[in-house]
Amino acid sequence: MTRCYNFCAGPAALPESVLEQARDEMIDWHGKGLSVMEMSHRSPEVVGIFETAEATLRELLGISDDYAVLFLQGGASTQFSAVPLNLLGEGGSADYVNTGQWSKKAIAEGKRFGKVNVAASSEDTNFSTIPPQDTWQLGSDAAYLHYTPNETIGGVEYFWTPEVSAPLVADMSSTILSRPLDVSKFGVIYAGAQKNIGPAGLTLVIVRRDLLGRTSGSCPAMLDWKIAADNESMYNTPPTYAVYLAGLVFEWLKARGGLAAMETVNRRKAEKLYGYIDASGFYANPVEVPSRSLMNVPFTLADEALDKAFLAGADEAGLLNLKGHRSVGGMRASLYNAVPEAAVDALIDYMRDFEARNG
Ligand SMILES: *Cc1c(COP(=O)(O)O)cnc(C)c1O
Repeated sequence: MTRCYNFCAGPAALPESVLEQARDEMIDWHGKGLSVMEMSHRSPEVVGIFETAEATLRELLGISDDYAVLFLQGGASTQFSAVPLNLLGEGGSADYVNTGQWSKKAIAEGKRFGKVNVAASSEDTNFSTIPPQDTWQLGSDAAYLHYTPNETIGGVEYFWTPEVSAPLVADMSSTILSRPLDVSKFGVIYAGAQKNIGPAGLTLVIVRRDLLGRTSGSCPAMLDWKIAADNESMYNTPPTYAVYLAGLVFEWLKARGGLAAMETVNRRKAEKLYGYIDASGFYANPVEVPSRSLMNVPFTLADEALDKAFLAGADEAGLLNLKGHRSVGGMRASLYNAVPEAAVDALIDYMRDFEARNG
């Protein structure tokens, strides 16, 4: 068996030891004679798996009892509608910050349900910057402020938390669990699982309990956070196997020393790659230095006619999924928690070799 290095933006790499444990437990979980996939979500086994996963996540992120932790479906994209449906009320308005493709999608969806005030946008820099907070034009009656702490496509990340009076709502799909986080500053945090949590099919929502029950009458039950919280994420059949795998990932993070330890490794990985890109005259990253993402590193080659050869050679070297998003082109290396430092070293070796042959 050869495992390649996977730089996919999502669904992304999972820790090898987690996959091995899941393999070992797949057919017969803990001597119960069946797979987690085959168990009733109401069984004590699955309820226990959910409780343990939630408890480990609460420990990792220091989530207090003031917050509900929800394991949902539909991806982060469904939360683009759930956020306004839960928080806007009839005729309400909300502030959004536009820093890239994912912000734009959240804004477009928010507009279906109420008034959206785009408080700031970095579109004029082609999304290579983050507008400083003192330039934001906040609405006076905003029900919440929505922003995207890490733009997965543009590779732009906030290393500061906005200070606003309205509840802060964050799409953390591609940054959650990459470093410590002060959850108490947020009203709502949500994330699709397939970047830094587990397999696709699971969506994590962390919501301050005082924000539950503000839905407008037209909110579908499946999108109502209060119904999910009141039913321990089991209002309908939840993605049981994905939650089981996420729980294994949470245990893996704990065993590696938690989020402070992950931050140290993640910073080292990103600094190595940005450092190499900046030192080379052949590769380039367009993002302003203070806002460069630790998780998603887009880069271009000196001549885009070489892109195909770069990707083909990378595949051959076992370095997978480096193609940039179709909307921006070029390359993108995603360096989530489960991407080992050795993968970054191998990528830089390949990049150096490719430059020597083509530069
Ligand atoms: C991947 C991603 C999404 C979309 O997630 P889905 O689970 O596919 O809906 C939304 N926002 C960000 C920041 C992402 O990285």
